[in-house]
Order: sequence, then C-alpha cells, then structure tokens
Amino acid sequence: MSGEPDGPEDRLRRFATIWSRAVYPVTSTSSTRPEFEACLLPLARRLSEALRARSFDADAGKAVGAALVEAHCTDPEALSRTLDCVDAYLVLYCGEDGDREDLRARSARLQHAMAAGFAQALRERTLAEQEAIAQAALEAQGVVAQALHDTEARFRAVFEGAAIGIGIADLEGNILQVNNALRRMFGLSEPGLRSRNVRDWVHPDDAPQTWRLYDELVSGEREHYHLEKAFYRQDGTVLWTNLTVSLLRDADGEPQYQLALMEDTTERRLLNLRLRYEATHDALTGLPNRTFFFERLEKALSAGKDRRFGLCYLDLDGFKTVNDSLGHAAGDRLLVEVADRLQACATAPGEMVARLGGDEFVALTTGPDTQRTVDELAARIMNALLAPISVDGRELTVRGSIGIVEGPAGERSAAEVLRSADITMYRAKSAGGNRFELADPEADARAITRHGLTTALPTALDRGEFFIEYQPLVHLGDGSVRGAEALVRWLHPQHGVLSPDRFIPLAEHTGLIVPLGRWVLEQSVRQAREWRDRHGGEALGPLRINVNLSPCQLTHPGLVQDTVEILERTGVAPDSLCLEVTESALIGADDDLLKPLRRLAEMGIDIALDDFGTGYSNLANLRRLPVSVLKLDRSFTQSMQRFPADPVDLKIVEGIVSLAHSLDLAVTVEGVETGAQAEQLRILGCDTAQGWYYARPGPPDRLHELALVDATG
Ligand code: C2E
Ligand code: MG
Ligand code: MG
Repeated sequence: MSGEPDGPEDRLRRFATIWSRAVYPVTSTSSTRPEFEACLLPLARRLSEALRARSFDADAGKAVGAALVEAHCTDPEALSRTLDCVDAYLVLYCGEDGDREDLRARSARLQHAMAAGFAQALRERTLAEQEAIAQAALEAQGVVAQALHDTEARFRAVFEGAAIGIGIADLEGNILQVNNALRRMFGLSEPGLRSRNVRDWVHPDDAPQTWRLYDELVSGEREHYHLEKAFYRQDGTVLWTNLTVSLLRDADGEPQYQLALMEDTTERRLLNLRLRYEATHDALTGLPNRTFFFERLEKALSAGKDRRFGLCYLDLDGFKTVNDSLGHAAGDRLLVEVADRLQACATAPGEMVARLGGDEFVALTTGPDTQRTVDELAARIMNALLAPISVDGRELTVRGSIGIVEGPAGERSAAEVLRSADITMYRAKSAGGNRFELADPEADARAITRHGLTTALPTALDRGEFFIEYQPLVHLGDGSVRGAEALVRWLHPQHGVLSPDRFIPLAEHTGLIVPLGRWVLEQSVRQAREWRDRHGGEALGPLRINVNLSPCQLTHPGLVQDTVEILERTGVAPDSLCLEVTESALIGADDDLLKPLRRLAEMGIDIALDDFGTGYSNLANLRRLPVSVLKLDRSFTQSMQRFPADPVDLKIVEGIVSLAHSLDLAVTVEGVETGAQAEQLRILGCDTAQGWYYARPGPPDRLHELALVDATG
C-alpha cells in the first residue's frame, strides 16, 4: 500500500462498500448500487459507534435491522448476507483500538439485535401491506357496489314500471321473478306466481309448436321465440298474450335463464272475435251467415278424398205470402222461430245450420256416413217445421222444400255444390213443395245448360247458329216422297248440335220463338221453291213443306201477314205449305185463337194437328177446327212395334182414321221405323207416313235425291 494510511472514516466507507456489494444483488430496491451504498453508510456508522460504545445498546442493532427492511432488503438472503458481512468485517474495519474478544462479542450481540429488528420490521411491513391491500380492496368494493347498485336500480325501475309483463325463470322452468304488470295480468300475488313452474301453463288452445319451441329454448338450441298464447288466470278466466321468450346466457355463454315478455291481448282478441262474429252471423236470427257457411263448406270440400259431405238447402214454401199479408215484422218473427228450430236439428258434431238470406237456410253435415245422416237431417228439419208457429196470436203453418246434395269431398267447388242444392230445392218446390229431393247430377247438368242456353239464345239467331233438317213425308199407297217436315237444330259453339226439344221451350219462354219461327218458315219455303225449280214438271206435283208452329206464334199478331209475305216473296203457292200445330195448343181454343189459322186455311194453306192422340182432345171438336191433316203421334206407331200388335190399339187407330176421313182429314203417321209398321198402317188406311224407316231428318239435297229416285223408279 502506498501513501497515507487509512483513517477511521476511510475504513468505515470500505466496510459500507463491501456490505453493499454483498447485499445489492438480492435487494428489490430501485436505486443504483452507489446510491444503495450511500444509503448503507449511515447504518454502517451506527454499527461502528455501537461496537465501540461504552455500554451495549441493542436498539442500535434493531434500528439498523429495521432500516434494512426500509431500504427494500426484505429478502431473507439479504439479512443473511448482511449478518455474514458484519460478522467478518465490522470488527476488522471499525474496531482497531479495543479488545478483540470484547469487540467480537459486541458484534455478535449486534447481529442478534439486527436480526430481531429486521424480523419485526418485516412483520410490521407485511401487516401494513396487507392492511393497505385490504383497505384498497374494501374501497374498490365500495365503488363496484355503488356502480352495481346504480345498474340494478335502473333495471328494477324498468322491470317494475314496464307496461308489459316480464318474468324470469331458470332453465327448469321455476319462476324466479315477475314484475307488477305480469302479476296484474294473472291477477296474482308474487308468491303465488313464484312457486309455479312454466310447464304448469299448458292451455288447451296452445298452438302445436308451443312446447317444442320451449324445449328448444331451454336446451340452448334456440335464442328466442314468439307466439300467441293463452293462460288461465287465478280466477279461471283466460288471458291471451303475445309472448316472446328469450334465452339469457352467462358470461361464458352458457344458457342460464329464460326471460318472458308478454303483452295482454285478451281485449283486442275479444274485439276481433266480436267483429268476426258480426261479420259471420246473421243479425236477425243469430245463425251463421252465408260468409261463414261458405268457409265451412269449403273446408268440408277440401277435407280430403276419403271424406264426404251432406247439405240440405231449405226454402220455406209460401213465405212471401206471410210477409205480404202479415207484414215484415211478423215475417221476421217467423224466421227467428224457424232458425231456432233448425238449430236444434243440427247439434251433432260436424253439423251446422246457416241462414243464406231471406227464407233460405242450409244445414251441413260432415262425418263418416253422410249418405245416411243427410237424409236424417232433412227428415228432422221437415219434422221440426210440422208444429204451427204462433205469430201475433195466429198459428202459422210453415212448410219447406229441401234440396239435398251429398257426395265426396274434393270434386266440386262450394259454389257448384250450392247451385246444385238450389236447383234440387226448386225441383222439390215445383213438385208441390213440402218435401225433399236428392240432387241428380244429370238433372243438374240439364238445368245448368238450360240456364246457359237461355242466355245464349238471343244472339244465336244473329250468329247463324240455327239450321234446318228435312224429313221426308211418304205416300203410303205408292211410297213416293210427297214432301218434308222442316225440323230446326241449333249448332251450339260448345254443346254441338242441339235438338229442338232442348231449346224450343226456352225460345218460347223468352219470346225468341217468334223471330226464330219466322226464320224457319222463310228458309223452309225457300227450300220448297228450290225443290220445285229442280223437280218441276214431275207428275206428282211439287214437294210440299211442313213447318211447325209453336203456340206462341199462334197468338202473335203478325202470323198471317208474315206468312203471306214469305209466300209471295218466294213465289210458292199456299197449297205447297202445311203448318203443324200441336194438338194440345188447340184444346179448348176459342174463336179468337182460331181466327188466324182459319184465315191461313182459307188461303189454301194446310193446317195439321200435330202429335194427335196425346192431348185427349174431344174428337167431336175436330169439326170446329180449321185443320185438314191429322198427324198421329209416335206413340201409336210404337205400340205397333210389338208383334202381334195389340188388337185394341189397332182398333183405335182404325177408328181415328175412319173418323178423320169422314171429316175429310188426311192422316199422317209419325215415327214409322219398320216396314211392318208401314204395311200395317197402310192397311189401316193412313195416307202418309214419316219415320226412320224412310229417312232420318237430313240436309235438303238428300231429300231431293230420294224424291228423284221415287219419281224415276
Ligand atoms: P214433331 O213435329 O212431332 O217432329 C217429329 C219428331 O220426331 C222429330 O224430332 C223427328 O226427328 C222425330 N222422328 C222422326 N222420325 C222418327 C222415328 O222413326 N222414330 C223416332 N223415335 N223419332 C222420329 P225433332 O226433330 O227432335 O223435333 C222435336 C219437336 O220439336 C218436333 O216434334 C216439333 O214439335 C218441334 N220442332 C222442330 N222444329 C221446330 C220448329 O221449327 N218450330 C217449332 N215451333 N217447333 C219445332
Ligand atoms: Mg211436327
Ligand atoms: Mg209430331
């Protein structure tokens, strides 16, 4: 070593340096090593003084131990290295002028005191730290609690104040919490609701998917669902709600609760039901109305192929008379009573009664055996009407006509079924009423086409849809063709060729028969003229034309005039024309009716009494009529088809023929279909014949050919 020997201060510093180097690595201080050394220096001095003090002061050691803790030397290793350092160097650097043994003892006691001070300081410090943590935790807790409280309060306010019902349940369905609105809706106290389980709320009106959706939600497969649901309130009344149920998940996304929001829709629903009731019921009788009935019928008709339905369509007989004679108020009371009685007739499941309007009612039956039940239903209705109904002190007898339609679902529309029932009801009415009739598809079809034909008739003539076929009239004596009967046909755009039986009655009904008849007359007379022109000069004279006259035409004022004009215009002689009038039209005819016919006969036109034998006319009357030909009805010829012919029939025909001849009337027979008939009729003395045996009605050219064959053959 060179220079001045170290002073005590230098040695003290050297001790502090050694100490700090030993301990610094195991401290948790944030200061640098020189800073740490500077911090240890006063401690070293304290130890040095205590080492050399006259009396031993343990507190100095304790203070240094505590100061170590203060300087972040809290690791037990720091204490251990400190004690090693003190033990090895304190006496060496700080105890030069003293007894070595005493100094070493004093150093050991200092080390004990330092350890004790260190331990105590460390304990206190740990406690203080724990305290601080606890305090901080406590403070933190307070802040969180306040925040939670605020959220909770907000939630509570929403929950309790909400106008819609809110309920929370666990996933097992136990009700945990419900709000005021929900309690009010159920008319319940909270405990009453909270002891319940969601699954208790099954209601018979639950939609089929209700509980499937619920199961999906509580098993976590679905987040929410929405439906209309009914509940029973505490008092047993029904509560209808719009219900939304949502799944609540915890922080980890696991399903935890279910939340139900429900809106009370009971009143709205009642109002809707009320409105619907009014829209579907008859105000007078309270019975379902036409709208409701159509809905039901359509449902029954779309119920599937194997299902059937039965329907009774009732119309009261003579209700109009009641209304007219007793007034509408009485009529209304009668209808109400009838409605009540009908209602009592259809009480079985699948049966219903409705009022269609006026005095028309319907009863519907569905079920496995409607073929039987619909008849029974109709019988019950007829029976229910038997007892007189007392209105204003009068006993009124009410009768009804019923049309029954029964059949499989899925074939006809509701409108078709009802129309069929209506048609059938009219059939019952026109058969005298107070009865029921079963729908007959063929009769229906005829009635339906009849309706269609009637509406199409007026335009058919303008559109040229009519044409005429001619059927030859053959002389029975020599077999020659003497003329032909004109028979009108309608070539209908949809139905094809229609025979006159299908449309002549309609044409008579609508008055179209007059222009149509005039058209037929004109066409036929022109045709006769054409035959004459081609066939002229033959020995047998011109072909004559027979034209049918309908009874309506007889009474038409223009008949004579029109006929004369047509004959003049075409240049056909009156004796080439024969007008056929059906026998029934002339039965009991007065002179006014016969006058035009007489005028025509006077001009030389032949008048034939058509369909003779069907009208039971008084034979003695024949003399009075301006007729020159009798056309024996087909029924006479038909009876001759049997072989041998009924001798009585033969006698009748023979009698008619001789009577006719005695009155100077020619006799024509219709419907001759066989040669045998023709021969028989010839023997009986008939003059002319008409029938399929000779020719079916056909186009005019064919007749001309037939006549030519005769003339040349
Ligand atoms: P109608 O005057 O007695 O005519 C005879 C009917 O018997 C015709 O029927 C004819 O086709 C049918 N007939 C002829 N030969 C035979 C036969 O051998 N066997 C059978 N089973 N039937 C035979 P269509 O043409 O159907 O006429 C029916 C009725 O329509 C006529 O009966 C007539 O009353 C009426 N009619 C036809 N054309 C006219 C017309 O232009 N005006 C008026 N008002 N009525 C007409
Ligand atoms: Mg005729
Ligand atoms: Mg006839």
